[in-house]
Amino acid sequence: MKRKHIVRLSDILDQIQSYLPGCDTYLVEKAYVYAAKAHANQIRRSGEPYLSHPLAVAYILALMKLDLPTIAAGLLHDTVEDTDISIQDLEQIFGKEVAEIVDGVTKISSLPLKGKIYKEAENFRKMILAMANDLRVVLVKLADRLHNMRTLEFQPEHKRQRIARETLEIYAPLASRLGIDWIKQELEDLSFMYLYPEEYRKLKQEVEKVVAARQNFIEEVIQILKDILKREGIEGRILGRRKHLYSIFRKLQRNNLSTDELYLIYDIIGLRVIVKEIKECYEVLGIIHSLWRPIPGRFKDYISLPKPNMYQSLHTTVIGPGGRQMEVQIRTEEMDRIANEGIAAHWLYKEQKIISADSAKSHQFEWLKRLVELQKELKNPREFIESLRMDLFPDEVYVFTPNGDIKVLPRGATPIDFAYTIHTEVGHHCTRAKVNGRLVPLDYQLETGDIVEIVTSANQRPRRDWLKFVKTGRARSRIRQWLKREEHERIMITGREILDKEFRKYKSSIGVFLDSPQAQKVAKAFSFKSVEDLILAVGFGRLTPSQVVRKFLHSQEEKKAPEEDLENITRKATITEKSDEIFSVAGEHGLLFHLSRCCNPIPGDEVIGYITRGRGITVHRIDCPNLKTLDPERRIEVSWETNDGAVYPARIAVFTMDKKGMLAAISSAISASEANILQADVKTTPDKKAIFHFLVEVSDKGHLDRIFTNVKQIEGVIRVQRLLS
Ligand code: MN
Repeated sequence: MKRKHIVRLSDILDQIQSYLPGCDTYLVEKAYVYAAKAHANQIRRSGEPYLSHPLAVAYILALMKLDLPTIAAGLLHDTVEDTDISIQDLEQIFGKEVAEIVDGVTKISSLPLKGKIYKEAENFRKMILAMANDLRVVLVKLADRLHNMRTLEFQPEHKRQRIARETLEIYAPLASRLGIDWIKQELEDLSFMYLYPEEYRKLKQEVEKVVAARQNFIEEVIQILKDILKREGIEGRILGRRKHLYSIFRKLQRNNLSTDELYLIYDIIGLRVIVKEIKECYEVLGIIHSLWRPIPGRFKDYISLPKPNMYQSLHTTVIGPGGRQMEVQIRTEEMDRIANEGIAAHWLYKEQKIISADSAKSHQFEWLKRLVELQKELKNPREFIESLRMDLFPDEVYVFTPNGDIKVLPRGATPIDFAYTIHTEVGHHCTRAKVNGRLVPLDYQLETGDIVEIVTSANQRPRRDWLKFVKTGRARSRIRQWLKREEHERIMITGREILDKEFRKYKSSIGVFLDSPQAQKVAKAFSFKSVEDLILAVGFGRLTPSQVVRKFLHSQEEKKAPEEDLENITRKATITEKSDEIFSVAGEHGLLFHLSRCCNPIPGDEVIGYITRGRGITVHRIDCPNLKTLDPERRIEVSWETNDGAVYPARIAVFTMDKKGMLAAISSAISASEANILQADVKTTPDKKAIFHFLVEVSDKGHLDRIFTNVKQIEGVIRVQRLLS
């Protein structure tokens, strides 16, 4: 792991020629000469000339196959911090691009990463990404940190601990987020070695024993698979793969195991099958599952649903020869390259399609998606690099409190959102806001780096129009809660007034009613918990005042109240807006709707509402078996209104013949119907059939019907069925 030999300029140039053959490396050579002069009289703690460090950093960047300005910046990255050279000097000699990368690296190095770092590691990571404004800055910083970790032994003990901790908390996760697996693993293992030397040494020994013991087994399995691939005419590579030490350590910790219980972890060594095409991944999966029994719940399809860092692969765990569990990963060459090199792989292989349009659709990280799209449109690689320089986090902004704490907010968030993240009361009473010392309107959109100060007033209250511009769920729900409470009070007053008017027709009054022992009974008769709920229902218009008064008079005469006609209390309501599970209803105020989880209704389904006690109205499918157990008196008619853009989960089962490629065929039929797959899972039956379960996201019933039509057309599909939940 330690690379003791000193990197020379020629090593870097050779490596560059290997992936950019014939290119002019003058910029890198010039940077080398300049860095050599700038660091001429400096020595590292290791006793080596200082220049060995920027050389090593530049070499790591060349291993990551980065462009020339990045490698030049790697050579120059410490010149501004450690010598009297300025960014302007660099810009004059090397141009704006190189100077900006060095500037970014210098800024990150001077961040006050102290004290709070462990509590706010995630925010610091994001801050670094947001500050960088150019992913290449982060890549240079990672290479810098990697070499510093490789040479950490020369630092004094207290510094070793701090740097190793910082690496583990900040830089290894950054490498992971950018999908550069080899850097993440090396950073983790080096940090592990310095932070927990005892555990590291012991685990290393034990793992080597396990690896030696399983060697024959793995080779046997590799041979079996090689033969089969050959027979099936699939071209591919099969590798034994070993988990890196720190991830084994974490797994032991997560499962409360000691190093002596290492044998309980079955995936220390696994297999990786690398083929040419996506289709073949599923074919190989089918072959493996037919050879060895898969362990339920261990199959993961990161091809249909890539990880946020673009990782794609199929994972499955099977019971291999001799009843021994083993994990197998199946992916294409391209997926393997992205798993190793991450985001860095993108601009180099720009002519190739990186991820298919379908999988890009389901991608969570908007910025990555946009990068990939941009990359297809742009002809010139320079333009692509330009596009890396903005919007690393189009979804988030990072702002400071006056004390210098970082708050993360969604893009478009306003001072009101900020106020509610400080405290609910600060939100409720927010009257004015200052950004960077200047007064701004309350719907001002915050930007990364803003320092935000909130002015409160005891007289201020939340306003309904705030809901039009707040961006965070927290602010929205707090404002709604407040408005609901206020509305509740208003509706109580209305309910009392309406009832009082009705009582007066019978020469009585609401006061008489409330004081009478029958009030509680009347509430019960209408299935309300309390008299207050009864009055609310009248205020909402769910119950007419005459129903209440009649029931009251009947109960006074100690007669049985006549059966209420269900028609009278069933009112039409329309679902108009889905947000935080709250629906507003035409003609009604503030009714709370939930889609019931027992039957997952989607727009277009025939539905019926059920008035719950205190949790608003639950919407069920008309064929939901649970409906039968619910009080018919509390049913209410509801209907859907079109709901642009919203998607709903639906569970489906596909019954098929058990043959190769079914999962791939069904997945692509679903994707072709423009639906996301949230979960997929398969069981085979003894009679050579397979049942696939999918959780998909659809916009409505018609959408689901289209999926059904497409899936039914696949040869081998016997039946498709919607499931309740
Ligand atoms: Mn450095």
